[in-house]
Amino acid sequence: MTETTRRDEIAAGLARVEAQIAEACRAAGRHREELTLIAVSKTYPASDVRILAELGITDVGENRDQEASAKARECAGLGLRWHFVGQLQTNKVRSVAGYADVVHSVDRPRLVTALSREALGAGRSITCLVQVALDGDPGRGGARPEDVEALADAVAGAEGLELGGVMAVAPLGEEAGEAFARLREIARSVRKAHPGAGVISAGMSGDMSQAIANGATHLRVGTALLGRRKPFVR
Ligand SMILES: *Cc1c(COP(=O)(O)O)cnc(C)c1O
Repeated sequence: MTETTRRDEIAAGLARVEAQIAEACRAAGRHREELTLIAVSKTYPASDVRILAELGITDVGENRDQEASAKARECAGLGLRWHFVGQLQTNKVRSVAGYADVVHSVDRPRLVTALSREALGAGRSITCLVQVALDGDPGRGGARPEDVEALADAVAGAEGLELGGVMAVAPLGEEAGEAFARLREIARSVRKAHPGAGVISAGMSGDMSQAIANGATHLRVGTALLGRRKPFVR
């Protein structure tokens, strides 16, 4: 009996994800090149990130600073782009600004100020996405839809930051496609004022296809690539 290596497992996960993306692109009349697959590696070790990089992954996502900063350090030299996708506390901004290329979770003015200051301090440029609370409840992260444009303006005007576009997580209790259709409209109005801000970060393991059907440009996929995460205790 041959042993299934971790590399085989991840390669199989990636092949399944790519097949699903291809099918959703076909159904939506879109091209694979319009999409960036971000492998969300939270709870998984740096050795998995290395395997992902060997398999052609260029973008990695993390949601907790402590874990992300250690992993980014261990994986320096792989040429990966690091995406911070989790809720961001102001006291973590200095650390995150040291390794994140893209922050997906900008949802309040204080975060813009802090990210701008720390990006300048680190001599880096950070791409920021405005996270939208599609259920209108900012409790779990994300700005209210009516606050998105002002926040986008603030990012665009901040030194050290580039406005990339918008991000959202599909709310519970609603069909993901309907929620992502609203995100697409919000993205459209942001692009009117900021034509370069074309990123729509939407779609996770369970709703990639609905995101692709509704204009997503960046998918954040963890479970479908790396397996089901063990629940962690903080
Ligand atoms: C964990 C996480 C993902 C990936 O979720 P999966 O369901 O494992 O694909 C995507 N986006 C955010 C913000 C996350 O925290």
